[in-house]
Amino acid sequence: MKQHEHLPSRIHVLAKPTGAVCNLACKYCFFLSKETLYPGSDFRMSDEILDRYVRQLIEAHSTPQVTIAWQGGEPTLMGIDFYRYAIELQEKYRKPGMTFENTMQTNGTLLNDEWCRFFRENNFLIGISIDGPRELHDAYRVNRKGKGTFDMVMHGLRLLQKHGVEYNILTTVNRVNADHPLEVYRFLRDEAKTSWIQFIPIVERVNRDGSTLCQEGDRVTDRSVRPEQLGKFLITIFDEWVHNDVGKIFVQTFEAAARSWMRLPSSGMCVFDETCGTGLAMEHNGDIYSCDHFVEPKYLLGNIMENELASLAASERQYSFGRDKKDSLPRKCLECDVYFACHGGCPKNRFLKTSDGERKLNYLCDGWKAFFRHIDYPMQVMVALMQRGYPASEVMHILSREKVVREKAFPKVGRNEPCPCGSGLKFKRCHGNKEYRSQEKIPKEAMTFREAGPGTYRQ
Ligand code: SF4
Ligand code: SF4
Repeated sequence: MKQHEHLPSRIHVLAKPTGAVCNLACKYCFFLSKETLYPGSDFRMSDEILDRYVRQLIEAHSTPQVTIAWQGGEPTLMGIDFYRYAIELQEKYRKPGMTFENTMQTNGTLLNDEWCRFFRENNFLIGISIDGPRELHDAYRVNRKGKGTFDMVMHGLRLLQKHGVEYNILTTVNRVNADHPLEVYRFLRDEAKTSWIQFIPIVERVNRDGSTLCQEGDRVTDRSVRPEQLGKFLITIFDEWVHNDVGKIFVQTFEAAARSWMRLPSSGMCVFDETCGTGLAMEHNGDIYSCDHFVEPKYLLGNIMENELASLAASERQYSFGRDKKDSLPRKCLECDVYFACHGGCPKNRFLKTSDGERKLNYLCDGWKAFFRHIDYPMQVMVALMQRGYPASEVMHILSREKVVREKAFPKVGRNEPCPCGSGLKFKRCHGNKEYRSQEKIPKEAMTFREAGPGTYRQ
């Protein structure tokens, strides 16, 4: 197999020991339909494949820290003993000085005290999927009888909290909850009591046969978030966050944006990076695919029982997959003012045409553009603060002080009236712009980007 010359120092793989099998039947789940790829399978990873996988994953790392990510389907369906064996294998193949972090993405409904004790003892980081308060969560996250799963998930979450297991929350942004950004965010912050949130937009493409199995077709299901909905959702939550929660709550999209505004080499999120392809997906039988979102025959790289994981990760085919993210962009993206933060988004969502007729524009373009443009000023403030040795959370004081100054300086000026400063613009477009038009500009010398110190932003 032809390999690209640059072998990565670490490999990120989402392992799916139960394949697509899940105890729930969430309506938007892109993975349930993948069962059809393995007709007749029992969808359980064998000990032999697990052994081979752990050994190859460790061998492929030249870094001291190895992340082992379990996903599904629903990974807890394998039972605890499977993971106990995985931990034994990690010890067996450990290189000197190597440490492991096991992560698991779960729907949380099968958790009990025993699972949570196991997680705690073995330092698992658990991602739990919750879409917001009951009525929003239950819109799509249902069991096989179509009943909402909110109570079961919250029970699982409380158990994780009781046992002191480290966890974060993954929330999909879909057609229903996208219209309720503050309800979702405040629920996650105040009720679910998480400090780390990941938002994933739901975009399901309808294939010619009516299924959503492959990334094909330019129609989306009615569960898919609309681009402008996504933009408003993120903007509303960002505004709440930037006034109240900087440094306390970590929203992955905002953290990634901050890294882009700092001009760091990677945003930490593949969708916002120039190229991708460093995260593979592994099925229960050892099949390796280019990405979790491309588990389909066209993107099958090989099987770990026949090929080394490292050689699949470094193959020319995988390299081109990641490189294509950059090479296939329409001119509209390359000329876009927020290209440095968006980079055209995830290729799986690039199925629109630009007004010039160029292909591969991201379906979510309008949403990403609105969001990135909206956060420009506060992001610049945060970066400037950090570069001068202040915590990014100072932005909250700056923004609230600006609001007071604005209200004192311009009392009772209507939004559509001319701005009293004489600019000729409407007040709402000038000093009345609620969005952060500052009187106190950050000094120019503070605007040169450089890398922030470690730990400034959690990655
Ligand atoms: S295809 Fe999308 S999800 Fe997959 S690695 Fe690339 S950017 Fe990430
Ligand atoms: S906002 Fe739209 S045009 Fe700009 S880079 Fe992103 S997808 Fe491309």
